[in-house]
Amino acid sequence: MPRIAYARIAQEGNAFSPVRTEVEDFARCHLHEGRDLHERCSAKGQEVDDWLKNAELSGFVDSVQKVGRGRVEAVPLFGAWAIPGGPLSVACFEHFRDKLVAMLKAAGPLDGVFLSMHGAMIADGSDDPEADYVHAVREAMGPDFKIGVSLDLHAQLHGRFVDEVDVMGAYRTNPHRDHAKTGFRTGDMLVRTVLGEIKPTTAWRSLPLVCGGGTTIDFLPTMRPVYRWMKRQEKNPKVLYVSMFNAHLWNDSPDLGWAAHVVTDNDPALAEAVADELAEMLWEVRHKQPPHFPDADETMRLVRSARLRRKVGTVCVCDASDIVGCGAAGENTRLLKTILEQGQGLKSYVPVRDHEVVSQLFGKSKGESVDVTVGGKLHPAMNSPIRVRGTMLASQERSGLGRTIALDLDHVKLVVTEGPAMAMKPDFYRDLGLEPWRADMVVVKSMFPFRLYFAGMNRKTIYARTKGVTDFDTMNQVDFNDPVFPKNQVADWRPTDRKRRGLLDA
Ligand SMILES: [Zn+2]
Repeated sequence: MPRIAYARIAQEGNAFSPVRTEVEDFARCHLHEGRDLHERCSAKGQEVDDWLKNAELSGFVDSVQKVGRGRVEAVPLFGAWAIPGGPLSVACFEHFRDKLVAMLKAAGPLDGVFLSMHGAMIADGSDDPEADYVHAVREAMGPDFKIGVSLDLHAQLHGRFVDEVDVMGAYRTNPHRDHAKTGFRTGDMLVRTVLGEIKPTTAWRSLPLVCGGGTTIDFLPTMRPVYRWMKRQEKNPKVLYVSMFNAHLWNDSPDLGWAAHVVTDNDPALAEAVADELAEMLWEVRHKQPPHFPDADETMRLVRSARLRRKVGTVCVCDASDIVGCGAAGENTRLLKTILEQGQGLKSYVPVRDHEVVSQLFGKSKGESVDVTVGGKLHPAMNSPIRVRGTMLASQERSGLGRTIALDLDHVKLVVTEGPAMAMKPDFYRDLGLEPWRADMVVVKSMFPFRLYFAGMNRKTIYARTKGVTDFDTMNQVDFNDPVFPKNQVADWRPTDRKRRGLLDA
């Protein structure tokens, strides 16, 4: 019986953060293997603690059962997922590469592997970590071995990655809520490929476009027609999967850009035609740039004036310059400082990362007075510590975040985390006794997912920009190989696409 292994190596990287990602960061979040992983990915398991019951690997296992119907075996290797952050250290990058190859070789005869990846990982010593991982698999397992990869739609595609992969599928929702479905659909293609039922043929395009599509949210007007069009293409049984990629802005690839990728069943010309048309559609939405983000002062005015909304719920303020969900450390204090100075009378919940303060205060009794400086310890060139005085509220050890404490600073309730301050769900505050319903404003460090998790109580969303590693203009620090929109005016996407795909015009 054919056997397909499955594994995950996933992290969304931020090239502008100096904070290195290590194996411990994966271990704190999601690092499981063998039987443990298999149980997590079964119908009754919880694949990712405190986050997703079913994600890509559960979807893949489900596809083996439903599409393979007893004709294929799924072989668990390992799953490693870390909260977004700075580049993997060389040791961390090589650790997972070597682990993947070693486990593939030790697993007995295999016909393929399903890999759940993000696609915008950053690592020291590699200009495309996912390509290097896939290449290591190809080297170890040979040219006939089938490789299927599921990706985030913020992945960065390069030719040397695309060329090594047999089938590929990306999320089709933003905020992302189709992890398991993506795993299932990509698994479906991989299972049928291994069984010889289909012969995948692929095509792709890479656009000199780094930012466009408005908010890029899938159900809002700018992007909705594109998603609908993609779905319509897949009504043709020859079209197996249509993916688009919206570029992760904090990737420093000199070839950064939106991309289109198509898998067809033994029809390369059709794949080319669909990829080409999708690329044209993506190019057309480039003029819709993201909305203006207010600064911290303007944010406070907006929160204060939202009286009725605060009464019937809360205002969610995304700390847009320090988004942990986009790889920032979460220790930027600019917004916190403004809220402390200007937010009197507004009950505000604010997160900050500071492992030293947590070590100092963890476990202290409620009501004990505290006087500490928080933030600015991991990236002092960008972030400054500020002094806060108040009393202890609570301490708790939590998956992914590490040890956390809550401090009462009068109108501000400050949650200090040991690991990345991933304030994305109401439970981030609730677990420490802070009910978001009761707050006037709740600060989050997530770009899109918080909009789903806070939907019940969020009456107004504000993206506040101060200064940090997740600002949209960090792209100005990148030395691109070609002119890219919107940094430059670009008349035609095709010459850059052809160059990036290695098709040099005669
Ligand atoms: Zn994403």
